[in-house]
Amino acid sequence: MASLYGQEIQTLKGVGKRRAELFRKLGAPSVGALLRLYPRAYEDLSHPSPIRTAPLGTPCAIRATVIQAPRETRIRGGMTLYKARADDGESTLELTFFNNRFVMNLLRENETYLFYGKVTANFLKREMASPEFYPAESCPQVLPVYRRTNGLSSRMIGNAVREALRLLPDPIRDPIPPMLRKEHSLPRLDFALKNIHFPGDMESLALARRRLIFEELLVLQLGLLKIGGRSRSRSRFQLQKDFTAEFYSLLPFSPTEAQKRAVREAMADLLGGFPMNRLIQGDVGSGKTAVAAALCHSAIRNGMQAALMAPTEILARQHAQTLSALLSPAGIRVGLLTGSLPAAEKKKLRAALACGEIDLLIGTHALISAEVKFLRLGLVVTDEQHRFGVTQRAALAAKGGRPHMLIMSATPIPRTLALMIYGDLDLSVLDELPPGRQKTETYAVTPDYRTRVFSFVKKQIQKGRQSYIICPTIEEGGSDMASVTAYTELLKNKWLPDCRIAMLHGKMKPKEKEAVMDRFSRGETDVLVSTTVVEVGVDVPNATVMLVENAERYGLSQLHQLRGRIGRGTHASACILISAAQNDEALARLKIMCSTSDGFRIAEEDLKLRGPGDFFGNRQHGLPDLRIADMMADMGPLQEAQSVAKEIFDSDPELSLPEHRGLRAEVRQLFENWTD
Ligand code: ADP
Ligand code: MG
Repeated sequence: MASLYGQEIQTLKGVGKRRAELFRKLGAPSVGALLRLYPRAYEDLSHPSPIRTAPLGTPCAIRATVIQAPRETRIRGGMTLYKARADDGESTLELTFFNNRFVMNLLRENETYLFYGKVTANFLKREMASPEFYPAESCPQVLPVYRRTNGLSSRMIGNAVREALRLLPDPIRDPIPPMLRKEHSLPRLDFALKNIHFPGDMESLALARRRLIFEELLVLQLGLLKIGGRSRSRSRFQLQKDFTAEFYSLLPFSPTEAQKRAVREAMADLLGGFPMNRLIQGDVGSGKTAVAAALCHSAIRNGMQAALMAPTEILARQHAQTLSALLSPAGIRVGLLTGSLPAAEKKKLRAALACGEIDLLIGTHALISAEVKFLRLGLVVTDEQHRFGVTQRAALAAKGGRPHMLIMSATPIPRTLALMIYGDLDLSVLDELPPGRQKTETYAVTPDYRTRVFSFVKKQIQKGRQSYIICPTIEEGGSDMASVTAYTELLKNKWLPDCRIAMLHGKMKPKEKEAVMDRFSRGETDVLVSTTVVEVGVDVPNATVMLVENAERYGLSQLHQLRGRIGRGTHASACILISAAQNDEALARLKIMCSTSDGFRIAEEDLKLRGPGDFFGNRQHGLPDLRIADMMADMGPLQEAQSVAKEIFDSDPELSLPEHRGLRAEVRQLFENWTD
């Protein structure tokens, strides 16, 4: 099997240059990858219907004898039409084919075939247009249906797969060792591959699926264990002393019980002697930053360096400001590294880092670039981790010879799922908001309320508060979508002429963005009109209004994140969602936003509305795409695979034993194709 991953798709019979390109597009650049391109559905041909009672409009199978061979009947607009007629002993079926000269040779009079397609009724006649057909005696019972792409039909893919299956070595080297197969009653790989594509019957298909799901999850878990770096080897960065009390004396507020608990749990890891691998999950505004700061502080006071990676430049800068203000009194030196830092300064910063003159480095993914070297990196924190792929975190971890890892996320993921996604991971939950928070009210209104909304914004400004206004686009572009630039002009000239208005969007230069954000944080701007660049993490407690234009454009989790920008201080806040949308789904989302501010409930609803495919589909999790297993549905096999993966990993972390070589090849295959 491993060798088939090295064999280019073009070497297959019937796959030329053009078609090879299409296969690559589908994710099958090699013969091996094609075999792993499993059907997305199956057609069951084992129970053909009589013509007379065949369901109309949905595909079905009909077994009938050709009583009139295909004839060319007319040509129209370059199209040639072929007509034939078949009979099942009771009624007749009209068959039509377009532009398919081959049917002339393939369909013979008096022979019996299985036709598969949609039946339509035309007065008393029953018709099937362009059906697939197979000689009845050699017809498969179940047909694979593949995800197609333009120019590559399901049938063409099936044919290529059939060729690929012929190339399977005999005996095949099975990635799952025999013992393990036996223990879990799994069929061999060759059986599984043959039957997942061309099932002998439904039972064999089920068996094949079970084996391939198990295998995929096992491979995924092994890969995660490997890059997650959880190993039984002791940490080089065991903390000797806990400085939490000193840190709390620096904090301008008292930590919540939840914060204290999370710090305690993580501190036990740091003092314990094995590398920490912990996820801090807490809703927006629950105070994750302070938890991270406490741990960085202790690590640094123990003589190590720490790194904090944030998903956006704005957030990285904000963290640098907050943490530098908080920690510099303790003599801790904070550095900020972002992509937009001038080359000369980057160089200086890197030098300072390499000789240990910076204790805490904060930055965007620029942190993981190869030139960044630490002297003694003991703790890596990734904030709002759903924005990062596992590979990026792994790259950062690799810098320091297995430093402690702390991941912070506001995305509420059920625990079992988190375990699967992040591998072997410990979890702390911040289930409490800091005291004194006022509830944020949420309103969904139509655009004709805008004037009233602005007078509310104005009142807030008079009280000394600030507002965010979110628009979906940067510049006006024909659509009726609000744009940051046009909106800003209107506010300045018409809607709120006496207020201090600024705009922020991704096309601005980093320096400009910085300046705008700084002025807003200092309270020198009343209204910030922005794209969703402020979505994650931004913390300006004096802001009390979040106004979202075209609110129908955003998913629930995104709206929840946006709303998380307000209600961070002691003032009552309001989130106003403006939308003219009428469709049910958009209205349902807005309604949910108005009815709850609980991040876990919102995530649940999001899951319900969008379905797990979408929720986990757009790489929120940063995992490779799975080909057959379903994150939500296959929880049982997942746990099974996870415990097997741990056993294997403990005994052979490099997968270098002969019986694990096949697995190693699969891990490489799954994680190599993984672009994030
Ligand atoms: P998030 O969990 O969304 O990252 P932050 O760490 O940005 O939240 O904290 C949100 C706000 O709450 C910040 O302004 C922070 O200073 C403040 N905060 C955090 N912890 C406490 C606390 N225990 N008491 C009062 N305010 C707090
Ligand atoms: Mg945060």
